[in-house]
Amino acid sequence: MTFDVERARRETPGCRTRLHFNNAGAGLLPQPVLERVVEHLNLEAAIGGYEAAAKHAAGIEHCYTALAGLLNCRPDEIAVVENATRAWDAAFYAMAFEPGDRILTAGAEYASNYIAYLQVAKRTGVVIDVIPDDRDGQLDVHALRQMIDERVKLISITHVPTNGGLVNPAAEVGAVAREAGVPFLLDACQSVGQMAIDVEAIGCDMLSATGRKYLRGPRGTGFLYVRASMLERLEPPMLDLHAASWIGRDEYCIRPDARRFENWETNVAGKIGLGVAVDYATGWGLETIGRRVDCLAALLRRELGRIRRVTIRDLGRRRCGIVTFTVAGKEAECIRRKLAERGINVSVSRRGSTLLDMDRRRLDEVVRASVHYYNTEEEVGRFCESLESIVGS
Ligand SMILES: *Cc1c(COP(=O)(O)O)cnc(C)c1O
Repeated sequence: MTFDVERARRETPGCRTRLHFNNAGAGLLPQPVLERVVEHLNLEAAIGGYEAAAKHAAGIEHCYTALAGLLNCRPDEIAVVENATRAWDAAFYAMAFEPGDRILTAGAEYASNYIAYLQVAKRTGVVIDVIPDDRDGQLDVHALRQMIDERVKLISITHVPTNGGLVNPAAEVGAVAREAGVPFLLDACQSVGQMAIDVEAIGCDMLSATGRKYLRGPRGTGFLYVRASMLERLEPPMLDLHAASWIGRDEYCIRPDARRFENWETNVAGKIGLGVAVDYATGWGLETIGRRVDCLAALLRRELGRIRRVTIRDLGRRRCGIVTFTVAGKEAECIRRKLAERGINVSVSRRGSTLLDMDRRRLDEVVRASVHYYNTEEEVGRFCESLESIVGS
């Protein structure tokens, strides 16, 4: 079966004007998502925001059903919020820690998550322990198993880091977490949308992700999955009249489903658009998307490897659509800017986004070229030619 890349590109307006290798920053919106969001904003302008929401209540609800289908969970285990970080925060800050409790995380952890560990460590005396990496650069599951004791209260890792193609062995971590009876929080911000993600197969209790990256949804959307059996134990750090009901002068009651982590006010057009984006992704099939993305990324790494002074920086046994590299003698920002002048989008990952990993590898910054299924082999070739001329100049 060949992938119908022609259709994918026809349905992606951005393909006409840019070579977009910044899908780890934000994927290009597909036409159906763009249309639904614009249509809803137009309706809000025409009849009023509340009235438009009432009219499209089914489209809003569909966002939950679609996400539940995508992740293999129930719609009432999904909260839709403004980004992946707030989704992650909602789960993390809902956990009750005591002095001496341990949080296990890994080397590729995302800055915002680690900053939250540090804040909670300062407040509560919780201890942060970093699971070592194995020789391939992914987290060492054997080492994790050795680290488990009765003080471990959370395993919290990033599936695919922001700064490279590494795919951490989430399901193996999930197996350890289940065996130990320890809650498992997975930052799946870069993996959802570029590969099949099944919360049952992975065995995570909480998972956070964004709409705008590999799912190609609108900006300002993110979501949290919380396993039903965990919900009771997680008191949201902030409540409002959507998350809870005020039932008496001194009494409120928190809603039982995952929407206890949401705000009342929300980006309704974004939520509807996110539902469409999930439908669009599942229409292609996440297995199919994963194969195509891996193939393109492997080709890109191969071609980049031929360019003088370029060093590929991706780690891990299994690698995905994020390709990172450095160029000897050239700053990453300079490469990014010169590519942008040629209509090519990439981004730069800096030390402060994944500090443990970058320091260990003595890297200050890497160029990040992240491919998606609508990119082509021809674009990979054109990208490498452009880079070669930049590097040579
Ligand atoms: C982008 C990213 C985030 C943050 O997502 P936001 O939607 O910007 O909050 C979290 N974790 C990882 C690994 C990321 O790459």
